[in-house]
Amino acid sequence: MPSSVDPTTANGISRRTFFRFAAGASALASLPLLTEPDLARAEFPKFADPNIGIHIDANENPMGPSEAARQAVASIIPRGGRYLFNMEDELTAIFAKQEGLDPASVLAFAGSSEPLHFTVLAFTSKDRPLVIADPGYEAPTWAAQVSGAPVLKVPLADPKGAATHDIKAMLAAASNPGVLYICNPNNPTGTCTPRADIEHAVANAPKDTILLIDEAYIHLCDTPSALDFVKEGRNVIVLRTFSKLYGMAGLRMGFAVGRPDLLAKIASFGGNNFLPITAMAAAKASLLDPALVPTRKKLIADTRQQTLAWLGGQGYTTTPSVSNCFMLDVKRPGKEVQTALASKEMFVGRIWPAWPNSLRITVGLPSEMMAFRKAFTEVMNTSTAGLTPPPLPHRQAKRPFTRLS
Ligand code: PLP
Repeated sequence: MPSSVDPTTANGISRRTFFRFAAGASALASLPLLTEPDLARAEFPKFADPNIGIHIDANENPMGPSEAARQAVASIIPRGGRYLFNMEDELTAIFAKQEGLDPASVLAFAGSSEPLHFTVLAFTSKDRPLVIADPGYEAPTWAAQVSGAPVLKVPLADPKGAATHDIKAMLAAASNPGVLYICNPNNPTGTCTPRADIEHAVANAPKDTILLIDEAYIHLCDTPSALDFVKEGRNVIVLRTFSKLYGMAGLRMGFAVGRPDLLAKIASFGGNNFLPITAMAAAKASLLDPALVPTRKKLIADTRQQTLAWLGGQGYTTTPSVSNCFMLDVKRPGKEVQTALASKEMFVGRIWPAWPNSLRITVGLPSEMMAFRKAFTEVMNTSTAGLTPPPLPHRQAKRPFTRLS
């Protein structure tokens, strides 16, 4: 599609139609990327059965969709025989209006994993590396395996303190990165990178580097969003998801926000050509509920603070999280503690090789965190050395895009 065409008005077609059409036009050229042997051979981690035990392992929101979202899903079900073409445009228009964005710079996906992967596929290559923080959310590195891009992992600055992205070191890591990935707040540490550092990244990144700013957890903290850089027309793509604060990980809805020419590039790698009306209805109801974000933000913050304070009182160090997850230094190989907790059906998050003595803990319901305290106390009062993982009922993740959280 020539860049001079205005995606919102080209031939009178809607912006949704434009992006999906653009996707179809180039999908044939890009499809083999998604079936690369690299992907097929990739090792998928196994997750414990979500129906057994307590899961504070995947940064989910156990509260689930809001009451209004549930009602919206129930109400739309009788219309499930229709495509209801207007719903995606309506949803993106609501989000765009709330955030002061041009609707042409918002593209809906079934979650944020797809646009995350597609951005890496679109803008990295063997000559255009991916730069990420470590420990950081690893999903972009899987896409880099497909694009053949070198992955440059940059340790977090002040790892025993603020644990923020080391933006200057990330900028220095490569002369021509295709994508510089900033997760704010960061998964797994739950820490935020200051606005001034993000501004520095935007001002100093090479001119054709894409800053991929993942705001999956932004609703949980007070840090300003990076959406204003999109409004300024910068080389910035911001990702939003309904999987975290909004409790819709299973329903699937998210946005990529960026200049229309950038969105057209990532859309060319795929995505649903029509999104489920249940997810769109729930997302719309969530956006239209002004109490939802502040209420849940406070509930999660209270539980997080109580858990962090308790752990601190027991002599453990945690990252200064402002999100729904944190890293806990268990002062011994994290794998041992994770395994011992799993034998008590208490499932905690994974371990990053850079911090082998730390476990990622998701902030669950208050009752779940009280159960965690009990199980953790029992485990830490026992020797965990030499434990082998219990034979858990597993499900095998089938797709590369769903295996991390
Ligand atoms: N980005 C980050 C930082 C995440 O932690 C996750 C999931 O945990 C995602 C993106 C993907 O979430 P989803 O595809 O459910 O929107």
